[in-house]
Amino acid sequence: MSLATRAEMAVYGVQVDAPVRRSKGAGPSDDGHLVVDGANATLPIVADSPYQVRDGAVFRNGLNLGLSVEPVRRPRFYDLTTADGVPYQQIALLHGKDVLATTVVQTCIRYDESTRCRFCSIEESLRAGATIAAKTPAQLAEVAEAAVRLDGVTQMVMTTGTTTGRDRGARNLVRSVRAVLAAVPGLPIQVQIEPPGDLSVLTELRDAGATSIGIHVESLDDAVRRKWMPGKSTVSLAEYEAAWDEAVRVFGRNRVSTYLLIGLGEDPDELVAGAGRLIERGVYPFVVPLRPMLGTLARADGVVAPEPALVRDITARVAALLADAEMRGADQGAGCAACGACSLLSAAGA
Ligand code: SF4
Repeated sequence: MSLATRAEMAVYGVQVDAPVRRSKGAGPSDDGHLVVDGANATLPIVADSPYQVRDGAVFRNGLNLGLSVEPVRRPRFYDLTTADGVPYQQIALLHGKDVLATTVVQTCIRYDESTRCRFCSIEESLRAGATIAAKTPAQLAEVAEAAVRLDGVTQMVMTTGTTTGRDRGARNLVRSVRAVLAAVPGLPIQVQIEPPGDLSVLTELRDAGATSIGIHVESLDDAVRRKWMPGKSTVSLAEYEAAWDEAVRVFGRNRVSTYLLIGLGEDPDELVAGAGRLIERGVYPFVVPLRPMLGTLARADGVVAPEPALVRDITARVAALLADAEMRGADQGAGCAACGACSLLSAAGA
């Protein structure tokens, strides 16, 4: 598949009925989960997209592109309920065909109108009753065990809303990782946190058994950060750099990643140069096109996804830098870079 086609599908979406999808929650995209030519892909489901999925193939305006596509099937663990009465689907979701993803704390101290990240809708799924505010380690362990046994899940992603503690929620993930690994020994787990005030928690996460870690900055341009993330941008880039460096020391090179969003208005050359500096630090820059979700301030403002040509250009240039450094997303073992669905980097060979 050409990168141009993949970029258009990421931006224009596809016409398909995808049983596994999400429309609200933490992070920058809402999509249906598909497997395109064997790789996980989260693509917007758009009724009038020029891309249609029929009989396992993709058509553009009626022309068969020779790509295989399979919607991810509804997992069996979605039919179960925890010992304390919570549907498993409210504890964790299937991402792609084999990733279990959970937002351990579904609230965020930055979620009022003036400080929340404009691309995030973490508390909307809570308001809609699709999830619960805080998942206990025991609940996570129960769901992970079933998802691995019944649905062939191969890795897990644990993210969290930011909490009031100095660790910004990281220590809670230590307990969650421990509990899941006691139930499913050896399951690769990625944790996603803000830079914690006390960096020693990074060692605690590693000692608990986390395989990899995401510390997500979304943009390296301070003006863009202030505009898009009024609350989170009060955490300085220097704090991010200190956290990334300590995370690389503890978890290893290419076991640490960060999101960089395409479509926030950052200068493309500066974005690529910043990605290059991250790679030199040993941090995988997971470049992802912004696709504003329902319930976000960006969507309310009428912000749209970036042009496919921009997505293709930035992705290709970052993929080339990653290839030069011999850093592949799959080598992270767990997490978004290992899954690859929300970015085009894996389609570009990274
Ligand atoms: S890249 Fe991350 S957020 Fe996207 S589907 Fe994969 S695990 Fe989920």
